[in-house]
Amino acid sequence: MLHVVHHADYMAPRPERGTFKFDKYYLVMEELRASAAPMTEHAPQPMPRKWLEAVHDPAYVDEVFRAEVPRDKERRIGFPVTTRIRDRVRHTNGGTWLAAQLAMEHGYAANSAAGSHHALANTGAGYCVFNDLAVASNRLIAESDASRILIIDLDVHQGDGTASLTATREDIITLSLHAEKNFPVRKARSSIDIGLEDHTDDEAYLNVLAKTLPETFDRFRPDFVFYQAGVDPHINDKLGRLALSDDGLARRDRYVVGQARMRGLPIASALGGGYGDDQREVAARHARSMLTMAAENVRFACA
Ligand SMILES: [Zn+2]
Repeated sequence: MLHVVHHADYMAPRPERGTFKFDKYYLVMEELRASAAPMTEHAPQPMPRKWLEAVHDPAYVDEVFRAEVPRDKERRIGFPVTTRIRDRVRHTNGGTWLAAQLAMEHGYAANSAAGSHHALANTGAGYCVFNDLAVASNRLIAESDASRILIIDLDVHQGDGTASLTATREDIITLSLHAEKNFPVRKARSSIDIGLEDHTDDEAYLNVLAKTLPETFDRFRPDFVFYQAGVDPHINDKLGRLALSDDGLARRDRYVVGQARMRGLPIASALGGGYGDDQREVAARHARSMLTMAAENVRFACA
């Protein structure tokens, strides 16, 4: 059973500036519904303003809430922040938090958007407005739902925003595996960063992950796990520089969920990046990723 968080506000009209397309958030749900896999959809509440302000600069939160984000910040984000976008990001941030709640109940749950790992304290960047991973982590710890959180970021781009927003936190650890030569040019310092060479393939990628992840779990001993499960390390991704196959991504996702669940830890995924001219192909990649993780979780739920 896949527990997936989705909201009608996850979609937004095609922005009047920039190249970002929101179609995939609708298409990914279509792919999941068409798969006939057992699934329950959950609708999130918007993230309360105070939890956004607990991580982001309140002046920036105010700019977003008024839909008056300065043009230079909008350029960094990649699209104009309209009232629709404001409502969208409040729901996608609430969605990652709800996925965490569902993961604590069911072992694994997915948010069908977000993973907005480039958003910084006083601005968004790289298609990210508010950093759901940092916002939800802070809220879970503040409300005593968790005490030590590991954020595994396997999007092809470095999780620079998450790293910088959690840099002073000893109770939130960030692990980022990314293409070294990809955006962002200036990387932030995650707790653990692994910059991979262009064209890294399945075997090399999975070897690095197997060398890094168990050790990270054992050393940090988290009690909750977030997973930014971007599918942009795929060989056909338009913005990725790596060379993972469909099978490689599936093995990656199974491995991550398995590592958390074998230790009895709940794990919630956020969608992350995935880019291509054919939005349906990208959406199918995300849908397969979530279904793979739900199937892996079942193995532990039944054990
Ligand atoms: Zn990405």
